[in-house]
Amino acid sequence: MTASSVIAPTVADPVTTVPALDIRHLTVHYRQNEALHDVSVTINVGEQVAIVGPNGAGKSTLLKAIAGLQPITSGEIRYFGQERVAPNEIAYVPQRLQIDWRFPVSVSDVVLMGRVGRIGLFRRPSQHDRQLAQRALERVGLAAFANRQIGQLSGGQQQRVFLARALAQEARLLLMDEPLVGLDIPSQDEIFRTLATLRQEGVTVLTALHDLQQAARYFDRVMLLNRSLIACAPARAAFTAAHLVATYGGHLHLLQSGDGLLTVADSCCNPDPDGGL
Ligand code: ADP
Ligand code: MG
Repeated sequence: MTASSVIAPTVADPVTTVPALDIRHLTVHYRQNEALHDVSVTINVGEQVAIVGPNGAGKSTLLKAIAGLQPITSGEIRYFGQERVAPNEIAYVPQRLQIDWRFPVSVSDVVLMGRVGRIGLFRRPSQHDRQLAQRALERVGLAAFANRQIGQLSGGQQQRVFLARALAQEARLLLMDEPLVGLDIPSQDEIFRTLATLRQEGVTVLTALHDLQQAARYFDRVMLLNRSLIACAPARAAFTAAHLVATYGGHLHLLQSGDGLLTVADSCCNPDPDGGL
């Protein structure tokens, strides 16, 4: 037998085979209203997953439950194989509407806040913390804005400040709720470039999105959610007609696009009934 025919047994590496998130039978209620029903899914370390679904599908609720901000009715969420996760390991970026942008803090302060979990609330940030914050701002292309008030930045720049905070925090899991809403195309591109940076760092990313094309193009898998989990798969397997109908129901419009992907739009907000998409 030649040496090359000897195949070493594959030893499972416990570090890489433990998923970043293991969600089992997650159900969440707001009073009697069931926002999430029996959701089970695993997300691997370093994966970037888009969550799509109609308004009220439970996207924000899922992100908040993972972030530990929303009590769950039943089920469990395990983080990197553990029941609990240190707060600094998760970075949660809420929808822009939920943030008071008049809050008088500088860009570098916001990024430094990402270090609080590491340095403790009442300790002063060290030179090392400041360097990490500065480097994070450089990586999202905002080093020149460090001393600006956060409220003076554009929407896209503000989102990138929060991505810089996640980088400075050295978070292993980034949760973002509709980060592209209200952003122009160049600002959206900047966000995707920053996500590519996070990919190199092995950060696991879960992002609620509206645009299915972007979900297909930039993310490893797409999670289709409509209170229940419809699918969580690479775009081609996720965007089947059956999955899209189950997710979007009556609001569905299907198109066969150039590369064969089905496209969907929610017609709820189109004032012109004959206006098509
Ligand atoms: P999505 O982000 O997909 O639009 P949400 O997670 O915000 O969906 O909402 C899911 C469901 O839970 C909706 O029916 C919504 O009305 C309800 N809901 C969300 N937040 C609250 C809340 N704070 N109190 C009561 N009901 C809520
Ligand atoms: Mg939402």
